[in-house]
Amino acid sequence: MRNLSATKVFTLNGDPVVNGFVEVDDEGAIVNIGQLPAGATPQYNGFLIPGFVNCHCHLELSYLKGKFEEATGMDGFIQQINEKRTGVEYSERIASIKREMENLYREGVSAMGDISNCDETFPVKAESKVYTRTFIELFGTEPEDTEAILEGARKLACEASALGLDAAPTPHSCYTMSMKLNRLSAAEGLKSGFISYHNQESREENDMIKYGTGALADDYNSRGTTTLPVMGISSLQYFVRNLAKECSLPVDGHVLLVHNVDTDDESIEEALRAFKNAYWVLCPLSNIFIHRKLPDIVLLKKHNLKLCIGTDSLSSNHILSMIEEIKCLQNHFREEVTFEELLRWATLNGAEALGKENVYGSLEIGKKPGIVLLENVDSDNNRITNLTTSKRLV
Ligand SMILES: [Zn+2]
Repeated sequence: MRNLSATKVFTLNGDPVVNGFVEVDDEGAIVNIGQLPAGATPQYNGFLIPGFVNCHCHLELSYLKGKFEEATGMDGFIQQINEKRTGVEYSERIASIKREMENLYREGVSAMGDISNCDETFPVKAESKVYTRTFIELFGTEPEDTEAILEGARKLACEASALGLDAAPTPHSCYTMSMKLNRLSAAEGLKSGFISYHNQESREENDMIKYGTGALADDYNSRGTTTLPVMGISSLQYFVRNLAKECSLPVDGHVLLVHNVDTDDESIEEALRAFKNAYWVLCPLSNIFIHRKLPDIVLLKKHNLKLCIGTDSLSSNHILSMIEEIKCLQNHFREEVTFEELLRWATLNGAEALGKENVYGSLEIGKKPGIVLLENVDSDNNRITNLTTSKRLV
């Protein structure tokens, strides 16, 4: 049994508790929460919060840390991925995966939605105390390859399942796949109850789908592969309408829409009609790294979307750190969003997105969410500062 107390406890289930305490049993399950008696000094100067839920990571790209140029746009990013993904030793790749997973755990991540293109992260995820849902991500521009690609993904998902991981196929994005693979992989993934989809990450993505123009369309067309028709609608509307050919809408499954930098009212409304459980994952540091842009938080909040936070990968970020993502959002949207809202995005909404809100995401009796200490905070104003650090206690 352990008893932890701090200046404020953010339970995500009611107001923050001033001079609050949390008591956990030896398995980390919460058995009691409350306020210290008057006059008692809390053990920690800082905030206690539930463990983070990192809703979007590509752990397997950890070996690319420090190798990518910034501000290249999406087409430049794809070129770098194609150039730099080869030539790194297997042992170095595995070591980087272990290093980052340990660090994520130490800094307080309790659950994670992680993208995989291969099996290199599976053993590390299977051994980690962090719960992961693995999205086996598919791309492929040639419609005739669809069955073979899906079959490969099913095999990878079986391999992950054999190690005890939750895993299923998922489509990558509108700009890397044939229409057929896009809808069939989404339909296949939805059978598991969960898909994750890179959505409206850049203006170029919408331009490509809507008008067939822009840097991403040029890049796609230059590869000599089968190209997509010009659709006249946004990339998210295309995703919804293409999926409708395969599934009856609305779908029940959890749909994690990742990035949402260049979205709009029409796209959001169409997605909300199509997906009963849409989660909108923000990866702000990655967006700044590649595009020097951020999502329109006012627009997203106006629609009462379930917002979540992810770190993306070390090919488009300098660090995998949920607290740094929160700092980024707090610094850019100081007037538009409170720390408590950001914390909800980084914990409880993410837990719901992964269907794990019974265990993670808030400090409540019976849950085992992990307990994280934030130090160097602005306690009077319920905010974090640029010096705030996060550290797992339980
Ligand atoms: Zn991603």
